[in-house]
Amino acid sequence: ERQGWFGKLSSGLRKTGSNLSQVFTGGVIDEALYEELESALLLADAGVQATQTLLDAVRKKVASSGATRPVQAKNILAEALTQLLKPLEKPLVIGRHQPTVIMVAGVNGAGKTTSIGKLTKHLSSEGASVLLAAADTFRAAAREQLAIWADRNTVEIVSQEGGDPSAVSFDAVSAGRARGKDVVIVDTAGRLPTQLHLMEELRKIKRVVQKADASAPHEVLLVIDGNTGQNALTQVKAFDAALGLTGLVITKLDGTAKGGVLAAIAQEKPVPVYFIGVGEKLEDLETFSAREFALALLG
Ligand code: GDP
Repeated sequence: ERQGWFGKLSSGLRKTGSNLSQVFTGGVIDEALYEELESALLLADAGVQATQTLLDAVRKKVASSGATRPVQAKNILAEALTQLLKPLEKPLVIGRHQPTVIMVAGVNGAGKTTSIGKLTKHLSSEGASVLLAAADTFRAAAREQLAIWADRNTVEIVSQEGGDPSAVSFDAVSAGRARGKDVVIVDTAGRLPTQLHLMEELRKIKRVVQKADASAPHEVLLVIDGNTGQNALTQVKAFDAALGLTGLVITKLDGTAKGGVLAAIAQEKPVPVYFIGVGEKLEDLETFSAREFALALLG
């Protein structure tokens, strides 16, 4: 199965021409190789800072090890990238609180609802009982979509037509406690009718959830579309400033995403990547491994 998602990821990266392997096909390690590597990293959305970090690491290690062949430089890059990404590798742990309240944010279209469906399946398959909260009350479609994922996973959902998002969240956390659920996942809006401020609304949901359970939310996740490039970093910073993120889900890495943005996140705002999305189906959610991701990126 590991092989399966790894394949999807690396073929996705290959599609965009952003896998870095072509940099290392020449005969020698020279300035031209470093220049190509720099362009390839920037093209893969790694950002200026992470690109510099990686280039410096490779140059240094090539010099100290006396490596002369490009394949050696490639292995050195794989190691440097793994080290850079390592801080993002952290499992989502539930069970310390009952229920563990997971608030999920993300801009519309990022794959938030789909990821909640996948996460529900993942947690259910580990034996946890899950309750969903439809706190994106502004869009009827969002509620309906979440209800479909609840149905597919045969889990309960707290939903209220036209209700107040924080009231729905409060009810869901209270219901989760009363019914002895292991996990409550709160789906929030990704965009609001224009006059309302999204971050304020999300902060309010967080505050009200705290009233239902003083230690909640235990996790605040941001779902990001892997195709958003450098803008992903902007999103991580903005949502973290507003909500205090505990983890990320990066979706659509099976498609045309360039993948390097994880290096940028690791360099500039290292919020753990709990999961990556590698397809539209329920099972297309994988835990993040720095080493495997680095190898997929290098092709
Ligand atoms: P939301 O607006 O953030 O809730 O986004 P949705 O969950 O509705 O997803 C938007 C689109 O992205 C849907 O067509 C999903 O099937 C698709 N999608 C979500 N995650 C993935 C993924 O990991 N890979 C692929 N290929 N598509 C995804």
